[in-house]
Amino acid sequence: MEKPDAQFKDGISALLRPPTPLQEYFEELISTRKCQGLRVNPDGEFGKGVYATAKFGEGDLVLKDPVLVGAQHSSNKMDCLVCSYCFCFIGSVELQIGRKLYLQRLGISKDCCQFDSSDGEDDSYMEDHINLGESSSSNSDKTPLPNEVVESLMNGELTLPYSERYPLASVIPCPGGCGENYYCSKSCADSDWEFFHSLLCPGEKSESRCREALLKFIQHATETNDIFLLAAKAISYTILRYRKLKASYQEDQKYAATDCACNSDLSLLLEAWNPLSMGFKRRWWDCIALPDDVDYCDEAAFRMQIKELAFKSVQLLKAAIFDKDFYGHIIGMFEQNNLDLVVASPVEDYFLYIDDLPDSEKGKAEKITRPYLDALGGDYSVCCQGSAFYPLQSCMNHSCSPNARAFKREEDRDGQATIIATRPIHTGEEVTISYIDENLLFEERQALLADYVIVEHNPGQIK
Ligand SMILES: [Zn+2]
Ligand SMILES: [Zn+2]
Repeated sequence: MEKPDAQFKDGISALLRPPTPLQEYFEELISTRKCQGLRVNPDGEFGKGVYATAKFGEGDLVLKDPVLVGAQHSSNKMDCLVCSYCFCFIGSVELQIGRKLYLQRLGISKDCCQFDSSDGEDDSYMEDHINLGESSSSNSDKTPLPNEVVESLMNGELTLPYSERYPLASVIPCPGGCGENYYCSKSCADSDWEFFHSLLCPGEKSESRCREALLKFIQHATETNDIFLLAAKAISYTILRYRKLKASYQEDQKYAATDCACNSDLSLLLEAWNPLSMGFKRRWWDCIALPDDVDYCDEAAFRMQIKELAFKSVQLLKAAIFDKDFYGHIIGMFEQNNLDLVVASPVEDYFLYIDDLPDSEKGKAEKITRPYLDALGGDYSVCCQGSAFYPLQSCMNHSCSPNARAFKREEDRDGQATIIATRPIHTGEEVTISYIDENLLFEERQALLADYVIVEHNPGQIK
């Protein structure tokens, strides 16, 4: 492993310092989230922690935390059309159903779902090759509809009964022309372009350096592991922020007498990286689990290597975007901090509503809706699924006996994390959630938590 040059010494110590100004950063974050009953303690015994500054009752909303960086799973894109920025469902119930039936028929799922078969969901239809209109054994639980019907669902010619009760925002395509991203509003489209998508859009107006390379990258990520797409969004976010900071810094420098470009680049980069770096409960090189092939006596040397790697990565980011070392760094962060992104489907609600209608209305409505339900089969209710990094939620510590949990209520219809109290929380008490299934055996919990460096002193007790 090569040593960082002596000229970067100051940079290294800057990286080793906790990101500043922590307290101010979290206070501002909390003020933008309208969750006045919380405070982040940046240096508790177990790293950062979130504490109650007010009382919460059982079932109370503790926090709604918007996504900082998030992405819908590639395999889920066939089932759900959602805003690429806020993850709410868009279009109409008819479009959601028609589009899913259309893509299901094209067999597009075949390529993008290979790595996602562990869900245990009914994805038997993915095993078939393109199978236009022809029913096959694996499609036996589905009764296909004629092409014209699917098309008129998609283009809005056909309206299903009571669907007006589930209105969705109209679909706005990506302004870069990629035909991949869609939005619920112009403001979501503009924000996504400004913060993430301009560098990652494979469309005509893409601001990436090389569209071909980008397309290859997207294809590779889709075929292997879509956490790469999430990591790319984090990198893109940092670069775009860095550029903005640099532009305004240069503007300031025009009128200033002195300048030291080399130091300012690093500090601007650190500033751009700040919101993401806050996600580390502990520094990567301190918390990464020791690989099996590294002896305990070599642990210090191993951690030093990782530390140097991280520094080198940040340096590399200045010159190149998709460097693999930096990549590892970010992916490590997402492994530690990502929370499942889940948004319930209005299609499920719609069919449940029809099912709950009084008999007099139900018969008539069902006559129309039943063929669509039969065509969708058992997976009519698939929700939007993805991974996301939530800046405040990620500060919450794990407990095997938590007092809060991530839970979506009826009204929580976008990608925000919603944290609900599961029992009364007193003022001053730490708010904790469980990162894992609480019903596992102690040894299993220990193994799953190894990457988080959480020490359970006594089996079954709080931290
Ligand atoms: Zn949106
Ligand atoms: Zn685009």
